Amino acid sequence: MRLTDYHTHTFRCGHAGGMARDYIESALIKGLSSVAVTDHIPIYFLPGDDPLPEFAMAKSELAGYVNEVLGLKEEYASRIEVLLGIEADYIEGREADLEHLLNRYQWDVVLGSVHWVAGDWIDGPSSARRHETEGSEALFNEYYRLLARACKTGLFDVMTHFDLPKKFGHQRPEACRELEMAAVAAAAEATVAIEVSSAGLRKPVREEYPAPELLSRLVLAGVPVVFSSDAHAPAEVGWEIRLMQKKAQQAGARFTATFKNRQRSLEGPGDPARQP
Ligand code: ZN
Ligand code: FE
Ligand code: FE
Ligand code: ZN
Repeated sequence: MRLTDYHTHTFRCGHAGGMARDYIESALIKGLSSVAVTDHIPIYFLPGDDPLPEFAMAKSELAGYVNEVLGLKEEYASRIEVLLGIEADYIEGREADLEHLLNRYQWDVVLGSVHWVAGDWIDGPSSARRHETEGSEALFNEYYRLLARACKTGLFDVMTHFDLPKKFGHQRPEACRELEMAAVAAAAEATVAIEVSSAGLRKPVREEYPAPELLSRLVLAGVPVVFSSDAHAPAEVGWEIRLMQKKAQQAGARFTATFKNRQRSLEGPGDPARQP
């Protein structure tokens, strides 16, 4: 099966290391056929050019980022497919602003992420404490409510880290199953893909996103998958991608999605394009 990585960051976001070129070189060394550069979108929902320098690039940097990735895409075209991507935060009530921003560039793939939950980050350095103060049930429920809404906006091609609130090792309470299933249904109806991400393996939870049972439910609902590392360092590109492919197979996945100019193609196991 071809190796692809649909989620990587760069130094521009302020909490990752390496230039886009370093990530592409790492992808080449690891034998990947495609790598999407998907840095965090600027914090469009807060005022100022660079409201949170440790979370995302400045608004004024976005054009430079796009030009850099487009240049690399051309430069590397004969060796590896480089995709121009972005990881875009879903913020309830700011959909029009996000749409306006996304429409300015010709992306290959737009990842949709819910990181901002009930007035704070769900995955930031101090977010583990929120499970103690606010409770896992409230956090997971609110997260899944937002994720379902994000799916329905039509703004995103791939929904990331589907069960992100587990990052620090807090498993989804049974009471949140209903809203989790509603998010699964929303993903299926919206024709978004989801990522099977090895990032969770590098986090306290030590489990890929999404968890095996949740992945099975998404697959059963007809949601196609992409594979990702969510690399924040060049060495992490392609991290455990073969294992993620195996997890998808175990969950019964029949289709892998690929993207170009935000056009989705589905590859099945019988597709010759997927033979090594
Ligand atoms: Zn990040
Ligand atoms: Fe994310
Ligand atoms: Fe990311
Ligand atoms: Zn991410």
